[in-house]
Amino acid sequence: MRKIDAKDIANKLSEYEVIKIMEELGSDVSEKSNDKYLIFQTICHPHEDGEASYKLYYYLDSKVFRCYTNCGNISIFDVVMNVKDISFKESIDFIYNIIGRKHIPKRGVGSKIEYKQKSILEVEYEPVQPIKKPYLYNIYSKQPIKQWLDERISQDAMNKFNIRYDHERDRAIIPHFREDGKCVGIRVRNFNPIEEKKGKYIPLWHDCIGYNHPLGRCLYGLNVSKENIKKYKKVIIFESEKSVLKYESMYPNNNLSVAICGSSFSNVQKKILLDLFGTDIEIILCLDKQYKVDGDEESIQWKEKILKNLENIKDIVRCSYVWCTDDSLDYKDSPIDKSKEVFESLIKSRITIE
Ligand SMILES: [Zn+2]
Repeated sequence: MRKIDAKDIANKLSEYEVIKIMEELGSDVSEKSNDKYLIFQTICHPHEDGEASYKLYYYLDSKVFRCYTNCGNISIFDVVMNVKDISFKESIDFIYNIIGRKHIPKRGVGSKIEYKQKSILEVEYEPVQPIKKPYLYNIYSKQPIKQWLDERISQDAMNKFNIRYDHERDRAIIPHFREDGKCVGIRVRNFNPIEEKKGKYIPLWHDCIGYNHPLGRCLYGLNVSKENIKKYKKVIIFESEKSVLKYESMYPNNNLSVAICGSSFSNVQKKILLDLFGTDIEIILCLDKQYKVDGDEESIQWKEKILKNLENIKDIVRCSYVWCTDDSLDYKDSPIDKSKEVFESLIKSRITIE
């Protein structure tokens, strides 16, 4: 008989793993998260009014979720069970599957759970299914988005990525496509300060249907960049869609970049790259500068996170990462947020993982 101590599993989950699980379930992590709690969308309960606001908090100390809209205190298993509509036992398998650990129960009294790292090559995934209304983004206007033009995102780049503008609610509409060009989800970037409180980037809700998709199982921009990635045998990994658009604006029709939509490079995302490009490519991780000064406490933790992101793929594929040692980037900037010169210098001085 195997005995599973649910509390033990929940307590062993790292912050990174919780984010990964939640992304898989369809919620990104809010930028307003801090070192006490992470904020997610309330995917824990159904939304008849079409709102999935960022009111599901995960407390890092107690490892418990609290849904401030409806559910109260819940465990990670409750969240998985509610979203997937599965049993408790299935929710454990789901979690292990995502975090890449196999649990091997030992026999006897006082048995503990052992963890085994799953090889990235063993990862299996189902392609994300296209949305029911793949044309939906087309109902929004092609009118220029001033906020993004001001950030040097070109109109051509926005056209290429089918970015639209919702002038009624002042927000950018960002369709996400699978590598084969099928639309799998639609996100919005709120510019309106009131809407922005619900989250800068949230899924599009239209006619009470949410067009969210598991961000961790897709790579934004791959449909556009894949031929160039094949040609140059390099892929640049950004956190946000916007960085991919900026890359397109700097290097029109020469895009080599994709976005992981967050700061966690998931096993499925890695496997998508391996399946498409084989092992003869270089993965260049270009995460945001989540530290003020190179060498400070935050930078040390951030470097650890970057290395952890590449830990299970660095022996299979050439991996490198961009690291800003000076003030050419500001706090929380993407490597491509400043000039072309800054970006190219960061790429040039990237650190290869041996
Ligand atoms: Zn809830």
